Amino acid sequence: MTLCQGYGTADCGCLAYECREKSGMHFTSNAYVEIVDPQTGQPLGPGEPGEVVVTMFNPIYPLIRFGTGDLSAFTDEPCACGRTVPRLTRIMGRVDQITKVKGMFVHPSQADKVVAGFPQVAKYQIVVTREQNNDIMTFDLEMKEQPADTDAFTKEFVAAVLDGIKLRPLVNLLTLGSIVDDGKKIKDERKWD
Ligand SMILES: [Zn+2]
Repeated sequence: MTLCQGYGTADCGCLAYECREKSGMHFTSNAYVEIVDPQTGQPLGPGEPGEVVVTMFNPIYPLIRFGTGDLSAFTDEPCACGRTVPRLTRIMGRVDQITKVKGMFVHPSQADKVVAGFPQVAKYQIVVTREQNNDIMTFDLEMKEQPADTDAFTKEFVAAVLDGIKLRPLVNLLTLGSIVDDGKKIKDERKWD
């Protein structure tokens, strides 16, 4: 027996399902599934993370461009199973957790992935600020112990963030207990006026 994943919502039922290749979840033919920029509603291309938006082809219960609040991305590369329908690559979390920095969406799950590569880090928080019309993303890192070579560690961390999030961060190395636990992994301190 093989176990396959599906993706659906209470309002829409099953929207995507895994084939036996398990390389993403094919869109169902019962609905039109789009990945859109959560702020503008514009459809995004393959590989770009955005909100899953659904239009149902059900005349009794029509839904038009229903925002699921889920964050995902799709691929339209051919699947080994022969189906030509695009696939959701993975569900990355909820849209309300993302923050736009320098025009790029940053989700806590992306940051979790980067930080997981650095076991010396006990806890982190991203602080987004704005100076002279520029977004600044700072990683506050609570260290289990301070690295022997701070510069080397910082360089390595910046490279990992550039690779995983495509943005260059500032890095603050802090001692244990420095980050106030407010449940927010990304703290947006930008003021818009
Ligand atoms: Zn397939």
